[in-house]
Amino acid sequence: MKIGAMNNPRANIYKEIEWIAKNGFDFIDLTLEPTASLHSQVDIKKVKAHINKHGLGVVGHMGDWALPKESHFPALREVSKQEIINTMRALAAAGAKKITTHSFERKRTKYKIAEKYCYELYKDLVKEAKRLGVTLMVENGGIDYAYNLDNRRLYASTLKRFPELKVHIDVGHANIGVKKNTVGQFFKKYSKRIVHIHFSDNRGKKDSHLRFGSGTVKWKEVIKTLKRYGYDSTITVETFRSGRKGEKESMKKLRRWWAAY
Ligand SMILES: [Zn+2]
Repeated sequence: MKIGAMNNPRANIYKEIEWIAKNGFDFIDLTLEPTASLHSQVDIKKVKAHINKHGLGVVGHMGDWALPKESHFPALREVSKQEIINTMRALAAAGAKKITTHSFERKRTKYKIAEKYCYELYKDLVKEAKRLGVTLMVENGGIDYAYNLDNRRLYASTLKRFPELKVHIDVGHANIGVKKNTVGQFFKKYSKRIVHIHFSDNRGKKDSHLRFGSGTVKWKEVIKTLKRYGYDSTITVETFRSGRKGEKESMKKLRRWWAAY
């Protein structure tokens, strides 16, 4: 199992890489997002060299959650797709072999229309991922996923339609609006396709990104579930609400728990 941290996309990317390496993480969950780390704002060759120099692995993360990819305006969907493709290319050039997209959310539209937009998008993304030789993952959404059964249905149907897609589970998202964290359900359904995980805590109402132990996530149960299914890949500590100190503390806890449970 490898533990990573995400760069703050509003901060200097080189300093972020240095902090992550210096503090004992194995990889960077490289996110190319506004306001300082968009694919068009960074020199990707230099970023790759810096990551390599500091001996970090790299997983890719995109800001597609903030794009109008679900819009009824075809031009906005098209420009979103282009932006996602450009980000994928930059992440692949930085050395990422696994890249995260965020689940398509049915907003104020009919299910069938959302499904059509979603399929149109992923058809091209899957093609581009193949060309680049990378694995594209879909991260389970936050509050909408837990509350809205149509989003859950759309998530499942997208994965069914595109067998090349892999699953990225965010344990914090799986804790929102539900009686019991749904990580177990995800593993039951997708265990062979889960290739990346995000860890953060919350109190079940919003995606608060707290340090482990400050919310209601039952970490012992979560880790036992991962181990039961033989999960041994990348886990990102995504507790940015608790600052760098909280991230480091959470990383150490995770190493301890992983050895103990
Ligand atoms: Zn996440």
